[in-house]
Amino acid sequence: MFKLTKKVALITGASRGIGKEIAKVLAGAGAHVVCLARSENKIKELCVSINNSNGSASYYSCDINDENKFSNIIKSVTAKFGTIDILINNAGITRDSLLLRMSEDNWDLVLNTNLKAIFYTIKTSLRPMFKNKFGRIINITSIVGLTGNQGQANYAAAKSGLIGMTKSVAKEVASRGITVNCIAPGWIDTEMTNDIPEDLRNDLIKNIPIGRIGKPKDIAYAVLFLASEEANYITGQTITVDGGRIIN
Ligand code: NDP
Repeated sequence: MFKLTKKVALITGASRGIGKEIAKVLAGAGAHVVCLARSENKIKELCVSINNSNGSASYYSCDINDENKFSNIIKSVTAKFGTIDILINNAGITRDSLLLRMSEDNWDLVLNTNLKAIFYTIKTSLRPMFKNKFGRIINITSIVGLTGNQGQANYAAAKSGLIGMTKSVAKEVASRGITVNCIAPGWIDTEMTNDIPEDLRNDLIKNIPIGRIGKPKDIAYAVLFLASEEANYITGQTITVDGGRIIN
């Protein structure tokens, strides 16, 4: 179950944290993983480690805001492998502050990286998926996109927008064998959340029914399921992976 043999998966933000774990889990399931991020050394190192453990990986250093470069990468990947089956839009950033103190630059940077860049990545990747009549697009949003959060108006707007975009594109491409879904992580232990102070950490854990911070693997396994053939009847959905933090 959940085998990705002969599938080609592109993962943005694969240099660390959740994206790195997604790359390892998808490669473990048999996919060729194309790892993308700005930190070339880190993605190169990840690919060497995957290739040395019987997996198959390649990498491209790219800022996802660079539409032309991303588009050329998709062309290279499809020229080399004939297709791109799975797109994981995972790269994301935060620039937190209360709205009254938020600069326009930090609003634009977060909206561009966490939302507009995904418009480009999806648009470019859909062409080969259309040809192949198969595709899995998985967007990593956040529970903050569902609930909002003080100090994260820019981030919440982008993540919430991503959920709306996912629902719309899912309807547009459903008849072509392509599914589009979101995963909304709760609090996951990565560099992004490293600087949460100890006392706040303890308070936050009290609000997680499962009683612990999430691990990147918790997200990677949900991605593996949505990327699989078995998930072919699920589209336009947002699956929260948050230890029960939000239970509707
Ligand atoms: P990290 O900060 O640990 O990693 C972010 C990744 O995104 C890095 O690989 C980084 O690579 C890449 N990235 C950032 N900007 C760009 C860019 N412009 N172009 C290409 N790559 C970029 O974050 P996490 O692993 O924690 O987060 C991954 C995703 O999960 C994000 O979308 C985040 O919003 C979401 N999320 C995380 C949560 C958490 O608690 N950790 C909770 C909810 C959602 P590089 O710097 O090398 O380019």
